[in-house]
Amino acid sequence: MDEFSYAQPNRVRIADLELNLRIDFSTKQISGTAAYDLDWIDQAATELVLDTRDLTINKVEAEVADGTWTPLQFALAPADKILGSKLTIQTPERPAKLRVTYTTSPQASGLQWLEASMTGGKRQPFMFSQSQQIHARSWVPLQDTPQVRFTHSAQVRAPADVMVLMSADNDPKKLRDGDYRFKMPQKIPSYLLAIAAGDLVFQPISARSGVWAEPGMAKKAAEEFADTERMIVTAEQLYGPYRWDRYDILVLPPSFPYGGMENPRLTFATPTVVVGDKSLVSLIAHELAHSWSGNLVTFATPKDGWLNEGFTSYVEGRLIEALYGAERAAQETVLGRNELAQEFQRIDPKLQVLSLKPGAVADPDGASSSTVYVKGAWFLQFLEQRFGRDHFDAFLRGYFDHYAFQSIPTTEFLRYTKANLLDKFPGKAIEKELEQWVYEPGIPDNAPQVRSRALTEVDTARAAWLDSGRLPSPRQTRRWNTQQWVHFIEGLPKTLKLEQLNRLDNAYKFTGTDNSEIAQRWYPLTVRSNYRQARPAIAEFLQRVGRRKLIMPVYEALVDSRDGLAFAKDIFAVAQPGYHPITTGSVQALIAQAQPAQKAQ
Ligand SMILES: [Zn+2]
Repeated sequence: MDEFSYAQPNRVRIADLELNLRIDFSTKQISGTAAYDLDWIDQAATELVLDTRDLTINKVEAEVADGTWTPLQFALAPADKILGSKLTIQTPERPAKLRVTYTTSPQASGLQWLEASMTGGKRQPFMFSQSQQIHARSWVPLQDTPQVRFTHSAQVRAPADVMVLMSADNDPKKLRDGDYRFKMPQKIPSYLLAIAAGDLVFQPISARSGVWAEPGMAKKAAEEFADTERMIVTAEQLYGPYRWDRYDILVLPPSFPYGGMENPRLTFATPTVVVGDKSLVSLIAHELAHSWSGNLVTFATPKDGWLNEGFTSYVEGRLIEALYGAERAAQETVLGRNELAQEFQRIDPKLQVLSLKPGAVADPDGASSSTVYVKGAWFLQFLEQRFGRDHFDAFLRGYFDHYAFQSIPTTEFLRYTKANLLDKFPGKAIEKELEQWVYEPGIPDNAPQVRSRALTEVDTARAAWLDSGRLPSPRQTRRWNTQQWVHFIEGLPKTLKLEQLNRLDNAYKFTGTDNSEIAQRWYPLTVRSNYRQARPAIAEFLQRVGRRKLIMPVYEALVDSRDGLAFAKDIFAVAQPGYHPITTGSVQALIAQAQPAQKAQ
């Protein structure tokens, strides 16, 4: 059962989706038809139930024997706040082919529309989708559950000078003419359905890989991501062939709410990782890894998020280790685990289990990322340590082959692991240990630990400064990478004296930094310490970037501070038109929560 979908995949399944859409930037709407090939499993079924959110349904038709279309009765239920509106179509004849004619809302939760002025080049408007977790239903009526996989094709019309891309076969040489066709022969679940349109050009990285981006960003991004081909080759050596043909990266405007989204054949990525020194390319390793974990073997419901994200974070670490060395991989692992320790101090224990109980989260966007990403990966690192890398690598490769193009729940993973790891190599780990990782909160005491030499050096330098007031020398810090700077700031006390903040700023220019990972940690510290000269730079940062992970800590610090709530509200009012609906929702909820709390004080 997928509690986040109205679909009934045990009765009928979409086997193929054929879209015929028109993108209208002036009304911020997509309209057209979605046609489905249906596999009827229950021969007594009389209806087809689809997920929708804020869609206007114009008509529903079934194809009849002579190739003509006949209208069907349908009913659109009142909207549920999280799930949207159930669309029930009367199908007493169980047609093999059916189509829905519809229009999206300008507020569709899965689409973001940007005016030309909000893009880098400011020449053309931009539109992109973010379907995970359950936002595909806001731009296509479908069975919005990962338990259903389908092939798809599309014809999309847009203004002639706008390029359109999809999670499908994007020809690097295709020309802009306003009429685009796509085909995707591999079956994907709905949350991987993706579309983007804008002033996009292509810059190759290798024969099968490249970057799509606005003209001002394409070359820079291709240089930053130059190691992508090596990452693909490394992943193939570990886990078998890349099965999706091309691997391209679409670099979006800074309002993209996430770091990346693993849309098949076309990773969507934030421009905030293009920092000039490849220090944040683990994002690409991560999204590429999803080509095995997530896109190939998929969680059965968002409650099993760790099957996608924990596996992917584990594989990401292996790719970083292979390309940049064990020390760099250790740095990223330590930083992730530090964040987890912080998050576990404040979140409900019921969110700290890998396999969430039904009803644990009302909205699948609200799961704990430390749990699904970091604890999930840590569990696999535990298994690797117990069984040895050779056995574990072979096991994982077998797992990806065995469940390729299927969606599974955590219980299936446990069953497979028992048969192919525990029983095959007895005495290394027991079932109870696996169950503790999966079903209990926190981290087991015997979890393997990691240390990083470079981060220990930072600890020593930070302690020396706090102790004696002597800042680490430029000769030392010149070699520090993003991870070390992040660690330096994260280890500082919750507040500092103004004079201390001033000295740090004078030495390292944190305020106004181009590096969002540093900004994300530095600005909350300045807010907590009431270091007001950072405020203009904070305002600029919150207006320029819309990636949720980077800006939420700053908003959180602001609404917690004495006079920060008013400042946060003012900035949000200006920044909001450039934010994605997902980011907007998070900031709005935070501000709404903060208001009564401040009144009560
Ligand atoms: Zn991921």
